[in-house]
Amino acid sequence: MEDEDQMIGIMGGTFDPIHNGHLVTAECARHQYDLDKVVFVPSGNPPHKTDKKITSAEDRYSMALLATMSNPHFRVSRIEIDRQGLSYTIDTVRAFKEMYPGAKIYFITGADAILEIFTWKAPDVLLEEVEFIAASRPGYCLSQLGKEIYDEYRDSINLLEIPGLAISSTNIRTRVKHGRPIKYQLPEEVEAYIRKHNLYVYKKEE
Ligand code: ATP
Ligand code: MG
Repeated sequence: MEDEDQMIGIMGGTFDPIHNGHLVTAECARHQYDLDKVVFVPSGNPPHKTDKKITSAEDRYSMALLATMSNPHFRVSRIEIDRQGLSYTIDTVRAFKEMYPGAKIYFITGADAILEIFTWKAPDVLLEEVEFIAASRPGYCLSQLGKEIYDEYRDSINLLEIPGLAISSTNIRTRVKHGRPIKYQLPEEVEAYIRKHNLYVYKKEE
């Protein structure tokens, strides 16, 4: 089988929009863990963001495709956006394990996401099913993990220091809404897509 023995990273997120923080995280994880590919998985209807209006899955998917185009190791998956109902990481991880039976799979997150992992569905099961790569992110303290969950799940969570980029999708949306520049925070193609489709202009936060 083609994908036998592959090392695959899954990078889940809302990607509303995808930005350079996501891309640097994925590329550093790929390099550090010798991954053959990193698959970006835009969420369908994220359970923890049901109260917020988010951009259509197709727009978020298109932006992820544009952002990852130039990296031969990056892919984008429609698995969560094509799934009916709520998307849970545990289901996505299991689907990837079925698709790539011989592969070693990592789930890549930023520090904020890993610190919230116990609010996710079936965290214990998830930590047994897949290894995490948790990247540093400005404003979040990875060493807090040591106090909370790191000891118990030491083998499941790999910490990764990356060059800090204090960029967030929320901040990008706010900047667009207020006419502030977003150049250099995300790929040019993604900015062009945002402008062309008038995204985030009228969008309300919260
Ligand atoms: P939002 O502000 O809408 O929550 P976000 O910038 O946090 O957007 P998400 O789509 O929520 O982006 O994040 C997807 C994944 O990428 C999460 O694991 C998150 O921790 C990680 N991530 C996002 N931005 C960064 C960053 N600047 N540095 C490191 N990791 C990041
Ligand atoms: Mg986020």
